[in-house]
Amino acid sequence: MNDQMIPKVILHEHVEGSITPVMAHQLAQKNNIPFPSTLCYKSGQYNAKEYKNGRYLYDESKFEEFINTYDTVSSFLKDPEDYYSITYDFLNRNAKQGLIYCELFLSPYHICTTEVNGKLIWDKERFNKTLFYMDKAIIKVQNDYDITVRYHVIGVRHLGAKVVYDTLCFIQQNHHPFITGFNIAGNEMAGHFDDFKDAHKLATQLNLKKSYHAGEIDSDESIIQALKHGAIRIGHGIRAIENKALICELVEKKITLEIALTSNRILVNELHGDIYQHPIRQLYDQGVRITLNTDDAGIFGTDIEKEYSIAQSIFAFSRLELLDITLCGIQAAFVEDMVKSRLTEQVLLCFSSDDRQLLKKFINDKKYHPAIIERFLEYQKLLLAIPVN
Ligand SMILES: [Zn+2]
Repeated sequence: MNDQMIPKVILHEHVEGSITPVMAHQLAQKNNIPFPSTLCYKSGQYNAKEYKNGRYLYDESKFEEFINTYDTVSSFLKDPEDYYSITYDFLNRNAKQGLIYCELFLSPYHICTTEVNGKLIWDKERFNKTLFYMDKAIIKVQNDYDITVRYHVIGVRHLGAKVVYDTLCFIQQNHHPFITGFNIAGNEMAGHFDDFKDAHKLATQLNLKKSYHAGEIDSDESIIQALKHGAIRIGHGIRAIENKALICELVEKKITLEIALTSNRILVNELHGDIYQHPIRQLYDQGVRITLNTDDAGIFGTDIEKEYSIAQSIFAFSRLELLDITLCGIQAAFVEDMVKSRLTEQVLLCFSSDDRQLLKKFINDKKYHPAIIERFLEYQKLLLAIPVN
């Protein structure tokens, strides 16, 4: 990482969603699976500068169509080894862009179930092998870059409460030390968080920290429900902007939102495809802890550098604010305290003397929200023990 590069964190990336059209073609070819001619835009039919990796073709206004695309792309993964390829491809590309910590979401349903006579069969061996290959890919990336990775288990919401609960029961039997989080994802309009009581309870018993998708497609009320059931981070959560009391609660409880600008622009109908309508700046300015995420990097044609750069160029986040966003991500990470301290130090080492001066100025100006000033004071204290870069 060069001196000027901002270290970056991703708390929210679905591993199957990281598959780019190029990778999807490779996998389909390798596994002799027909590639639907309508799955991707033809080159020349999309802005290749914006979507460097290519572009999938679906009606973005219909969330179900996105889910179908996700499932089609996932279906090209046939062997556990295929997860090595996609994990390596995504992490290597993003580590090159300064990614130092990543939480990958993995869905046992997608990885290892088959349906026989209407009954889901969970293949333990396939699951363990898949994680073995994902671990192997992480180790390979770690040969070249300093990156730490943890996993979330995904309960697929639109498959119903029983499947979500069974997913966790399966994890109870097949634990992996890197699985530190539990996540409810999929179509937010399917069911209510109350329907998943058994899963919320079992996740707590298994000591898995909770981050739930809410307030992306559904309203601010879904965020309130996710918090009620123990979520300490919210996937997206941008509809919080509609509810002042909720914003205060998020600030007070130090809840972190996993915002994904490109994904939100594409999937959140309220934004009408216009990134300028995104409330990220207002949420930050009101003291909410936010992070920048890729969500489904391959499907949305993004990477972490692009997300940080949109925040900078469109929402005028300064270098210091982006460093703050990275540090918020580390503080909210589902990782051991020792690792958090190491990562925090790594980011603080990137503070230049100019960054330190600005920090001091902003603390004195008190123009920022008190919650931000509180964070800045904490960084200033920690920086006393860090040599000036
Ligand atoms: Zn997501």
